[in-house]
Amino acid sequence: MQFTNIIGQSSVKQQLAELVQHNRLSHALLFLGKEGSGALPLAIAFAQYIVCEKVNGKHSTAQQQGPSLFGDAEPEPAISAAEVINDACGVCSACLKTIQLVHPDIHFSYPTVTKKAGEKPIATDFITEWREFIKLNSYGNLFDWIEQIKEKENSQGKITAEECNEIIRKLSLKSFESEYKILIMWMPEMLGTEGNKLLKLIEEPPPNTLFILVAENDALVLQTIVSRCQLIKVPSLDTKEIEEALISRNKTEPAIARQVASVSEGNYREALQLVQHAEEDWQSLLREWLNAILKTGPVAQTKWVEDVSRLGREKQKQFLRYFNHLLEQAIHYRIRGEELVIGEKERDFAERLNKIAGIEQQQAIIEELDRASYYIERNAHGKMLFHALTIKLYHIIQDKIVFLEN
Ligand SMILES: [Zn+2]
Repeated sequence: MQFTNIIGQSSVKQQLAELVQHNRLSHALLFLGKEGSGALPLAIAFAQYIVCEKVNGKHSTAQQQGPSLFGDAEPEPAISAAEVINDACGVCSACLKTIQLVHPDIHFSYPTVTKKAGEKPIATDFITEWREFIKLNSYGNLFDWIEQIKEKENSQGKITAEECNEIIRKLSLKSFESEYKILIMWMPEMLGTEGNKLLKLIEEPPPNTLFILVAENDALVLQTIVSRCQLIKVPSLDTKEIEEALISRNKTEPAIARQVASVSEGNYREALQLVQHAEEDWQSLLREWLNAILKTGPVAQTKWVEDVSRLGREKQKQFLRYFNHLLEQAIHYRIRGEELVIGEKERDFAERLNKIAGIEQQQAIIEELDRASYYIERNAHGKMLFHALTIKLYHIIQDKIVFLEN
């Protein structure tokens, strides 16, 4: 994975290349980026940059050899000493191994699940699945990863004490091919207090060892570890970057890409999921809900709650996010009117939402939806949660008369 394969993040890429070029790299880095920002693929691209033979000046390229004596095509102009290589070459032996995730000096550590009672899994047990995950879903989150490897319901991912011992063992070995040994640990949030085993290693690592931790939420990582790392902030992506990535990488229709990018909050994973569950579904689900709340009454409400509780947590969260986005659009539309460029269907819905509820009510609903998302993430009971939410929304908007016709 080269920097060029990573969506956006140009200033972070620049910062990373400069850290290497100016020898300002600390031996423990914390890549901190929210879900869908690409912190993990970025960390892998960075590892590739570090081991790339061309970046290290070991690779004898045509440029360095000068013009060919044998009538081959004219080489590119030679790279001057001042010119800086900003990305891995993608073709040297170290790059090829990194792309396949088989470079012997780049180690990975990530949460694993227990398949049988008493078993003590380590990351290497899941390396085949891990390679597949990175290849197909490198913007995925912990939920996606656990879904891929779990065998039982409610499996929780964990980085085990045995894995910590394994890391200590691996990093005590000499590097095989590269100057550096690199360990990329994804989701150190899942370390628990076992992580304390690694403190000494992070503080006084063996020579030429680089730790790269990739986290979404530093508050959940052991503070003793965070405080020993150089922080690399990986911001959420721009709407435009997501739109372009959907079109070029996912072959999404431009109109859908634009719409999805605008609600994905800089989260490329979310954008991919939204494309999968076309927006149409959410609109009709939402229309049914509002009608049940405001017109058709308790029986319809119960049926709707049954339906939505079968969707699963991820989709429930997406649905709430979608509704929230529409409410925000409705508020903007009310304030800025025609100035706001939104799609026809969204404008229509915004107008309907503005008829149902005033700004204060809409803000109250947004808060309720945010709170519900928070509880869904923490495994709240879906049916109870949506039932309670239905009642709350009814009370928030009951004094308005509504017709949410199709
Ligand atoms: Zn290379």
